[in-house]
Amino acid sequence: MKRLLALVLVSVALFPTIVIAQKSGFGETKQLQSPQTPRLGFILHGGAGTITKGSMTPEKEKEFRDALTAAITAGYKALQEGKSSLDAIEIAIRMMEDSPLFNAGKGAVFTNDGRNELDASIMNGKTLAAGAVAGLHKVKNPITLARAVMEKSPHVMMVGDGAEKFALMQKIELVDEKYFWTQHRWDGLQRVLKEEKEAEEKAKKPGTISSTSASSEPENRFGTVGAVALDKNGDIAAGTSTGGMTNKRYGRVGDAPIIGAGTYASNDTCGVSATGWGEMFIRVGVARDIAAMMEYRGLPIQQAADLVMKKVEKLGGDGGVVAMDKFGNMAISFNSEGMYRAYIDVNGKPVVEIYK
Ligand code: ASP
Repeated sequence: MKRLLALVLVSVALFPTIVIAQKSGFGETKQLQSPQTPRLGFILHGGAGTITKGSMTPEKEKEFRDALTAAITAGYKALQEGKSSLDAIEIAIRMMEDSPLFNAGKGAVFTNDGRNELDASIMNGKTLAAGAVAGLHKVKNPITLARAVMEKSPHVMMVGDGAEKFALMQKIELVDEKYFWTQHRWDGLQRVLKEEKEAEEKAKKPGTISSTSASSEPENRFGTVGAVALDKNGDIAAGTSTGGMTNKRYGRVGDAPIIGAGTYASNDTCGVSATGWGEMFIRVGVARDIAAMMEYRGLPIQQAADLVMKKVEKLGGDGGVVAMDKFGNMAISFNSEGMYRAYIDVNGKPVVEIYK
């Protein structure tokens, strides 16, 4: 019996070239066993929402595809050069934070009072070390600050002014708040404010924060970014960065900087980065729950991700996750119309997908 088990394990290690792609009834699911380079893997997302064919111009779609390709290529190149999974995801996420297309860094959405409040987190699957930041107004690349919290402080999470003071000490680039101003995000806020006002008048309940104004309106929160990587040492890392949700109230924190909700990584199981209606992802504890499904129930990564996304859906939430296990098997699961995503396929080539 022992010998049989050993034989199975050896053959999986030597011939991990099976590619399984499947579609289930739940959003899009995909399981890939990656493998000519079994120890290198990279998958990322650029947010989920009502992204349907024809909902954007071909030029816009090309911009997204180019940005996703550039980020996945740069992250994977870092892994090929022998850099760590943490380095690779930081490189890719910084690129997306610097692009106005994504709801992270430069392209962050606006809060109810017309500011940008950024959140991010990162986790090292080898050591379970983690770093998270929330409520930032001036940090150009929140993912880099999250990593500094993990590596250069005894803490896991820092918020607001304190986090920015720490950024200054660590010589992490701060920018004027105006840096984050973009016309399309400003217009998005104005639209939601108008809708909220109309809804308030209708309900005759001034002052109530309607859930649709800041949360369930999916098109107001495209573009959170996140990545999971597996490096040549077999170490998994995951990270997520966001501007949150348009019209969120000052001080609101979503799932992206919550370890175990928006981000999780453990070499024993998997790495996960989430995007979607953050409140629901926090309540389900999405990222850690996926790892727990693998750890305690022995589920394959895709099944684990689908099951947990069903819990989000049951609460009325939407969004998705990208995940990767310690063998490089990847899972994509989402219940929204679309999700910007990219991964490295079995031939080491970047694949970009947007729609269901
Ligand atoms: N999850 C993010 C948040 O709730 C938003 C998103 O991913 O679209 O802040």
